Amino acid sequence: MAQLQTVRGPIDTAQMGMTLIHEHVLFQFDDSRRKQSIEFAAQLLRDAKQAGIQTVVDLTPVRRIDWFADIAREVDVHIVACTGYYVDRLTPRLLADLSEEQMVERMVHELTVGIDTTPVRAGIIKVAGNRPELTPWEVQVFTAAARAQQRTGACIATHACAGAREQAAVLLRAGGDLNRVFFSHVEAEFGWEGRTVQEEARYLEEIARQGGSLLFNNFGFEFDTPWPDLVYLLHYLCDRGYAEKVLISVDCNWTWNEEGKPEFEAEREHPETRRRTFAYMLTEAVPALLKAGFTEKDIHTFLVENPRRFFEQAGGG
Ligand SMILES: [Zn+2]
Repeated sequence: MAQLQTVRGPIDTAQMGMTLIHEHVLFQFDDSRRKQSIEFAAQLLRDAKQAGIQTVVDLTPVRRIDWFADIAREVDVHIVACTGYYVDRLTPRLLADLSEEQMVERMVHELTVGIDTTPVRAGIIKVAGNRPELTPWEVQVFTAAARAQQRTGACIATHACAGAREQAAVLLRAGGDLNRVFFSHVEAEFGWEGRTVQEEARYLEEIARQGGSLLFNNFGFEFDTPWPDLVYLLHYLCDRGYAEKVLISVDCNWTWNEEGKPEFEAEREHPETRRRTFAYMLTEAVPALLKAGFTEKDIHTFLVENPRRFFEQAGGG
């Protein structure tokens, strides 16, 4: 039986259940708001559990793991932490300036020994690129991730608003296994380099053909991905036989605003996005998908079977 590392320890992948595979349990770690932050995050997870979600994969590679441990103690949801890197400008200098070798060592340590000084192990590697071409620093990070994957068998999640194919190529060159990689935010139209939705569908199909999975999360983000386009891409991949490469999640993230209220991503410009909590997947996104012609079986494939199969492919080394 394959295992998955969670903040509370390893679980069998059969226990994952309905899984949100690209989320942020906490994004901001301000000591003066520790209690409030943990309480609000825990409440969002309790609501998620109530809606039917059993596992949440956090993709915040620079985080306070002791805060996550406190949250995990309070909720009946499996939380998976990650290792790795987000974009250069949001990475503390000390971590950003590591050599490729040191990056590999850090990731392997967090995956196999523990994060910071705790025994909590990461369950996945996160890396990020934002443009069609990766910068030299990003190439180093992706190369380090592929090498850490080779050593540990871990899965990789990428932030790929643009350049998913370039990312796949860099990972493959470094010995990565695309069957254990998913590319996130590929539906964000600002990253399509002028491709039409039909062209973008073929662009993504090529990644799926190579074994990579594709993560879609722009539910309710009409300004980045009009709903008909999101539906088109999902139907296209399923019709071409790649339903097992489709992953869906919310990418819920929020920070405290000046008034001391939790503010969700894009909420200021688009107040309707405030509803995009973890539970939103089941209260809003899934009903919309069912209306768009997907079946309950498709939803089960995207939210239960695919995340489980994805993590079951891990560990091969
Ligand atoms: Zn994210």
